[in-house]
Amino acid sequence: MPELFSGAPEQRTLLGVADARNMILDRVTPVAGWERVAVRAALGRVLARDVIAPCNVPAHDNSAMDGYAVRAVDLAADGDAPLEVVGTAFAGRPFSGIVGAGQAVRIMTGAAIPQGADTIVVQEVTRRDQDRVFVPPGQRPGQNLRCAGEDLALGSVALAAGTRCGPAELGLVASLGIAEVVVQRRLRVAFFSTGDEIASIGRPLAPGEVYDSNRYTLYGALTRLGCELLDMGVVPDDPAALETAFRDASLAADVVITSGGVSVGEADFVRDLMRRLGEVAFWKLAIKPGRPMAFGRIGNAVLFGLPGNPVAVLVTFYQFVQDALLRMMGVTPLPVAERFELPCDAAIRKQPGRCEFLRGRLVRDGGRLSVVPAGAQGSGVLRSMAEADCFIVLPEDSGSVSPGDRVQVQVFSGLT
Ligand code: AMP
Ligand code: MG
Repeated sequence: MPELFSGAPEQRTLLGVADARNMILDRVTPVAGWERVAVRAALGRVLARDVIAPCNVPAHDNSAMDGYAVRAVDLAADGDAPLEVVGTAFAGRPFSGIVGAGQAVRIMTGAAIPQGADTIVVQEVTRRDQDRVFVPPGQRPGQNLRCAGEDLALGSVALAAGTRCGPAELGLVASLGIAEVVVQRRLRVAFFSTGDEIASIGRPLAPGEVYDSNRYTLYGALTRLGCELLDMGVVPDDPAALETAFRDASLAADVVITSGGVSVGEADFVRDLMRRLGEVAFWKLAIKPGRPMAFGRIGNAVLFGLPGNPVAVLVTFYQFVQDALLRMMGVTPLPVAERFELPCDAAIRKQPGRCEFLRGRLVRDGGRLSVVPAGAQGSGVLRSMAEADCFIVLPEDSGSVSPGDRVQVQVFSGLT
């Protein structure tokens, strides 16, 4: 970890969102280690090696349409060409003969092109009479053929190392006849909640306590990324217990994520311990919600000390942690954070200075798409997070929004 983290003076100005993201991404690298897994088990995993095509896809020249396989030289420039139909080629059941002069073979989509034929005439334009077919003029030699190796040529890179496998990638690997791929080992992430007031579910709340929700949101976000999880529970604001937790976590995992205890002037020990055990910077971010955040290293583990407020946890996770984890998982290139602009149907009060992430709801009215804030925006209000389907992102220098103004939107989910 660079000098930045050792003995950095207390920060006076707020750190911008983009700067913080870049600083984090510059300081994490992919973990070493790989394993070989069956195709299905590669879903969500990251390829550690290029997948090289061991064959052509498609394997044979084949027909893109139902119709007739013919020889272009037999076709007439004006008037129908009568051809003798000498057989049929089905997908998986090729025609074994040769298409000779004046002959045609009935052919189905996907069937191998019979020897001698070089052009496919679609069924709809032909006229059939017994074993004769009449082909009209205007056919292009070589039309409606899918050539061997057209999608993927033997020996070419079908999927590059660093690709995260989704449904399409699994199908592509299978289309090459490959049963196993080499993937990066899973990233090991230890996480715990801090705070004397935080209670685990399963028992009644004592006065002043709140149920731990952060471990569940983090569980969800980390599981979706395909990380190997080490859930270390709730750790009270007690120096000895915290020290043990930080040491155990940093020995067992590549990444340690905590929530709570990183605000300035807090009466707990989390900050002190992080500082003592590792090289950690405490950032005051120009972001709302989620102003305080710690980032650094304890031993060999990368540390993210997220704020305690439940919505701030999710905002900081998505804006700062997720891409860092993807990079550590070996994903290249990192996905582009999709943001697009939509009109906002409501007024939003805002002072310039911090980048605000509001929970938003997309509104579809006929063909018009717009966005509105989703309920109460307090940083502890998870309900509006659950009801939201996007963030409304108001950049640092922007002020209030009037109804009809265009705002940036980051949607929570898409087709992947
Ligand atoms: P802290 O940063 O530790 O001061 O926490 C900020 C706020 O978030 C406080 O109101 C905490 O009670 C709350 N909080 C902290 N951790 C959790 C958690 N794991 N689940 C729910 N709320 C939390
Ligand atoms: Mg706390």
